[in-house]
Amino acid sequence: MGMDSDLFCEGLVRRFGNNAAVDHVSFDVPAGTFFSILGPSGCGKTTLLRMLAGFDKPDDGNIHIRGQRMNDVPPNHRPVNMVFQHLALFPTMSVGDNIGYGLKRRKIPLAERRKRTARVLEQVGLPDLEHRNPQELSGGQRQRVALARCLVLEPTLLLLDEPLGALDLKLREQMKVELKHLQKQFGTTFVYITHDQSEAMVMSDQVAVMRDGRFDQVAPPEELYREPETPFVAGFVGDNNRLSGELLAVRDNLADVRLDDGTLVQGRVASDNLKRGQRAELYIRPESLVLSGDALNSGYSAMQATVRTTLFDGANSRVEAECGGQPVYARLPQDGSAPRLSADSSIRLAWNPTLARVFGADSL
Ligand code: ATP
Repeated sequence: MGMDSDLFCEGLVRRFGNNAAVDHVSFDVPAGTFFSILGPSGCGKTTLLRMLAGFDKPDDGNIHIRGQRMNDVPPNHRPVNMVFQHLALFPTMSVGDNIGYGLKRRKIPLAERRKRTARVLEQVGLPDLEHRNPQELSGGQRQRVALARCLVLEPTLLLLDEPLGALDLKLREQMKVELKHLQKQFGTTFVYITHDQSEAMVMSDQVAVMRDGRFDQVAPPEELYREPETPFVAGFVGDNNRLSGELLAVRDNLADVRLDDGTLVQGRVASDNLKRGQRAELYIRPESLVLSGDALNSGYSAMQATVRTTLFDGANSRVEAECGGQPVYARLPQDGSAPRLSADSSIRLAWNPTLARVFGADSL
């Protein structure tokens, strides 16, 4: 932890005028971690990454890489490389020369450069393309060359600024898996910024969810999904239904909430200091909702809802419904047993209360 980590940031601040783009951010990235910073446009991701790379200086706080304070170290002296969204491969140089460029600048002898270039090309799965020009490659191959060009320098940290953003959907899906695989193969610590939660969830060991210059939560993907600590994380990571109402009671870590149409529902307490009578929000995942007959599922929380539309979605059907004026949707498995739900039919949706999370409405 801390000073032993590949990256350790303490109270980082970067202000532009009166606005803090990065506002007292502290975190710790152990060696070999795929660490993502996930947040909406304008939350401060790029500003944070630029400080790690050394292109910008913090107004306050410290950056340590492998225990060494980096604040005053210029970018080219940091053990860090960066992959940008619009990767700038040199168009007139061969793939091999592109990859060897950084080694040449470091005055590594030719024979050694050739050896390392060939090895890294092999590792990224492009062993035969050394003599091609970048224009003669596919988008995915170019991406791998850009990565190889950084990885060949064996940085302690590789910073990635939405590197998949410019790729088409299919290639992006494929590269997600490949990037994760490459990161594990090389063992390099990755710091990856993205606004795409599915990218962050698929690839990362740890995800920091960033909002307004701060980290809301730092956790492994599964934990972010199952145990969001703030309503923002609950709403930003994966799909979620949000139902508003009034908090009636709390016992055994379960909260009773009365929705605005009078329905009584239950979920696990997710914020501190919930008080009776306050406004509250219950979050329940679409896949946690089940159709319930009257006597079924004792101990489950349930509500009456009116179907608006049912959409076929491959293995599931997506049922969009309404409960007391609030939209709610369920993802029900298409296992043949599900009844056809026509518009305006009335259904009962139920859930295990321990799968729902209740926040105070003011905790956003
Ligand atoms: P995106 O996903 O759109 O790239 P981001 O999360 O990377 O967004 P930043 O680019 O870090 O966000 O910007 C964070 C905030 O700081 C924004 O409000 C932005 O307007 C502001 N900001 C960034 N750079 C500057 C600058 N050089 N001068 C003034 N304000 C800036």
